[in-house]
Amino acid sequence: MRDPILLTPGPLTTSLATKVAMLNDWGSWDAEFNALTAAVCRRLVAIVDGGEAFVCVPMQGSGTYAVEAAVGTLVPRDGKLLVLVNGAYGARMAKLTGTMGRELAVLDFGETRPVDPARVAAALALDPAITHVGIIHCETSTGMLNPLEEVARVVQGAGRRLIVDAMSSFAVLPLSARSIAFDAVIASSNKALEGVPGMGFVLARKEALLAAKGRSHSLSLDLHDQFAYLQSTGRWRYTPPTHVVAALAAALDQYDAEGGREGRLARYQDNCERLLAGLAELGLEPFLPRELQAPIIVTVRAPGHPNYAFQELYDRAKASGFILYPGKLTELETFRVGCIGAIGRAEIDAALAAIGQALRAMAIETTHA
Ligand SMILES: *Cc1c(COP(=O)(O)O)cnc(C)c1O
Repeated sequence: MRDPILLTPGPLTTSLATKVAMLNDWGSWDAEFNALTAAVCRRLVAIVDGGEAFVCVPMQGSGTYAVEAAVGTLVPRDGKLLVLVNGAYGARMAKLTGTMGRELAVLDFGETRPVDPARVAAALALDPAITHVGIIHCETSTGMLNPLEEVARVVQGAGRRLIVDAMSSFAVLPLSARSIAFDAVIASSNKALEGVPGMGFVLARKEALLAAKGRSHSLSLDLHDQFAYLQSTGRWRYTPPTHVVAALAAALDQYDAEGGREGRLARYQDNCERLLAGLAELGLEPFLPRELQAPIIVTVRAPGHPNYAFQELYDRAKASGFILYPGKLTELETFRVGCIGAIGRAEIDAALAAIGQALRAMAIETTHA
């Protein structure tokens, strides 16, 4: 039996080659596994043109663990983080910052607007205590793209440091250390890199990371300590997710074979175009205007029909082999359909057919019916 296609923002559908890479057992102290870790880290640094100035610190766990490790290690105990919020992941960065007891300021843009660089500039001018700014590149809860480059310019101009949660955009949307000033970019194995879940990583400015010794409030999430140990021994502190690292190495081979960032972006853009066109044919409306829509995940307004219930749509789509994703907006009923993963036109077209069939079975008018 075939696995369902995951139209979600991660974990997502992985290729057979990626799954097969997990069929070996690796010793965590073994030189072969250490070499694998080092090679994966080098390749991740190269994706943001990090050169010698940046290092990759892998972290066991999901993406949030890596965000928490980056904030807790890079923001000094007497520092202050301004978090730019326009969705659930921005809210999560603010929450974890508050939980660890760092000073926190929040600029909330609501769920329908991108981050406004002018408001960031004003906030930084007003509060000299702010040392760092946290931004979500693609706010996956809506699919919205934030103006990273403009915000980075504002933050740099104000002499502050930038921490970027690029979880769902990493390796797809442009993000280069040559044009964007950041101290950390955070992503994970199981999004656009198309690996399996279990590893986050932080691409950190080496100088900022080396200055952060002893800052972390946490032992297991101490990025500096993880890096120092990795550098001196070649090994992870504590048990590494060996199979996840092996799968990520295989996923990176496929990424390179596809043409790297540009190749992957082209496929995701094609997936997204077809999805938007097909949804329109079904009479379904995207939540975001076109210019704010990243080719990662599409938030769809739920049909305003009394027969509509997400759970029924979900169950019917699943019976056809597709896993949809619930909406995450507070003020509007929506559902989400991902464009990322080891999927292409055939899967998107089949998913659209399944959604159309489900809606008709629920006696919800579509323009096809
Ligand atoms: C997926 C994601 C995360 C991390 O979520 P986990 O469930 O911890 O992997 C963080 N930020 C963004 C923008 C994401 O898309």
